[in-house]
Parts: sequence; structure tokens; C-alpha cells
Amino acid sequence: MEEYTPIVPFEVLSRRLGLPPDRIVKLDANENPYGPAPSVYRALAECRRYNIYPDPEQTLLREAIEPYLGLSREHVVFGNGSDELIDLTMRLFVFPGDAVVNLPPTFGMYPYNTSLCAGRLVDVPRRQDFSVDVAGVERAVAAGGAKMLFINSPNNPDGSLIAREDLERLLHLPVIVVLDEAYAEFSGESFVSWVPEHWNLVVLRTFSKWAALGGLRIGYGVYPIPIAAQLWKIKPPYSINVAAQEAALVSLAERDYLMANVSRIVAERERFRDLLSALPGVHPYPSRSNFILCRVHGVPSVALKQHLERQGVLVRYYNKPGLTDCIRISVGRPEQNEVAILALRQALAELATTEASQE
Ligand code: PMP
Repeated sequence: MEEYTPIVPFEVLSRRLGLPPDRIVKLDANENPYGPAPSVYRALAECRRYNIYPDPEQTLLREAIEPYLGLSREHVVFGNGSDELIDLTMRLFVFPGDAVVNLPPTFGMYPYNTSLCAGRLVDVPRRQDFSVDVAGVERAVAAGGAKMLFINSPNNPDGSLIAREDLERLLHLPVIVVLDEAYAEFSGESFVSWVPEHWNLVVLRTFSKWAALGGLRIGYGVYPIPIAAQLWKIKPPYSINVAAQEAALVSLAERDYLMANVSRIVAERERFRDLLSALPGVHPYPSRSNFILCRVHGVPSVALKQHLERQGVLVRYYNKPGLTDCIRISVGRPEQNEVAILALRQALAELATTEASQE
């Protein structure tokens, strides 16, 4: 099977580039540049229960998430990042040879977990503007008897949302629809309230982005109750540790503080996008998330990524069909984004000269 290519760890990169960590502008993994709420650090320092196994039923956390979601805890299962829930939800339904519909370009874990289950990936590519080809999905399901459909909204890497009427139509299909809303807080839109009325809708969310807990690994799935009951059976009981549960609980109590940072990121996203579109050959797509996909004309995107990396600015590039001339940049703090813009301007100028001299 094909391996999943994760990002290069921060410490390794710092060593490789010979740059101290504080000189690195890390805009390659859609992390929250403001970090967790300060009270998370305090709570973790004061916690005295690290010798005790974590609560496998996630009692306090599932209680605390109810007002955040406006849904009862019976629907919710927390996991070791939403990655664990992508894995478990897929394992619940996909047997060897079963078809899973994927809507590329999108998050790489859906194909990865499909091959882990020896499932059959059925790609229905998104349109030029990254909207979902609903009729194409309907045809693929009719033809291949797919069991599951993965939709990411806002979609990684472009930041577009699924249209309400498209989701409505897709939910009529006889498949489990997994709607990955890892970035929902940045768009202000979510379909999580639809879960109780749909037998086949699963919504995945995370604390990695809005609450800045990516390093602690905590996410959750919102399931129709009969599916949640089955998921509990296959979930490893201690996969979210005491620190992660504690940090998530405190984050829910610090919702206003954290959402103020989300608003900062959203405002900065628009300013950053304007700056990016003023660069020669750079065409940023509109985004409802905390990252911006840019098509880059005139210079190879891999060379651009490497040039930026040497200057300590990390961005994501793609060697996948349809995205080879793109880079994705996470929205950092304003001062980080300024450094990125300067580095980009320099890289584009130098690479354009190299390209021209090679012609
Ligand atoms: N879904 C999408 C679309 C993502 O981009 C990511 C992380 N980059 C995840 C899920 C995984 O999030 P978590 O940290 O909760 O595992």
C-alpha cells in the first residue's frame, strides 16, 4: 500500500536547516499560531492524576461538549485526534473489497485508511472550483455499491465549503456519509445539528485547530446513536490520555478566549490573501478555513517550497494531479505572514531569473 507522507518534524527540520526553532515560520500543517489557552498549561501542570488511567467513557468531556454542540452526549465519541475516528469509523463499515467514495483533491487520510481496510477507493474528482460533483457521486454509488462517502468541509487543501443542497442530496444515497469538519470553527458553519435526523450522517470534529491542541491529539465524532454504540465496541479504551482530556475540558471552558483567536485568524486570512494575490504569478483561492491554497504560475511549486524552506518558511506543496502548481499556506500571526510574504517575493524573483536563464 501507499504510505501516508506526514510533515517533517519541527525539531528535525530546525536541525537540518541550522535555524533555531524561533526563526522558523511554520505554515505547513494548519496549526493554530496562538497556541492553547494559558489555563490549559496551568491545568496540566497542576493535574495529579497522571498515574491513573484515563476515563474510557470520557464522562466529563462528553458532558461538557453538550452545550458546545447543542446535542446530547449519546452522539459523541472522543478519540486520539479525529484521525483515530477516521480510522475507527472506516473499520466499522469497510470490509476487504468494499468501495469508499473519495472527493479529491482532499485530505490524504481517507485513501490511506481505505487501503488499510483493503477497501476499494472510488475517486470522484471535485470540479475546477473544488465544488462536489454530486451527480458523479450518485453515478459512482449506483455503479459500485459503495458503503461510505468522505466529504471534507471546509475542504483541505482549498478551504471551500460543501453547499447545503449538495449535502442534502448526498444524504439520500444509501451510504454512510462522513463529513469531516476539522476546520468548522473557522467557517462559522457546521452541519453537526443534522446528525440526529439522519441515520447515515457522521460528523468529525477536532480540538487540534480552533483550540490549538494538535500536539495533544484529541478529536471527536458525532454519530447517529446506533452507530456510536457499535463504535464504542471497537475503540481502544485508553487512546486519549489524561492530559488530552484535561486540556480539552479546560478549552471548552475557555471558549470565548479561543474563539477570539479564531476571529483573529479569520480576519488575518483575508488580509494575507490580499497580500498573496499582489505577488507576481500567485493566485490564491478564497478560503473559509485557516489556510490558503495558491496556484503559482511561472515557477515550479516544488522549487518554491524548497526555496522558502531554506529561508525558514514552511509551506505545503503537492505532487498530486491537479495540484502540482499549488502551494498551501496556513494563516499564521500577522508578523509570521509578513515574513512569509517577503520570503515569497524573494523566492519568486530568484526562481523567475533562474527559469529565464534556463530558457
Ligand atoms: N481532517 C482534516 C481535513 C485535517 O486536515 C486534519 C489534520 N490536518 C485532520 C482531520 C486530523 O485532525 P486531528 O489532529 O484531529 O487528528
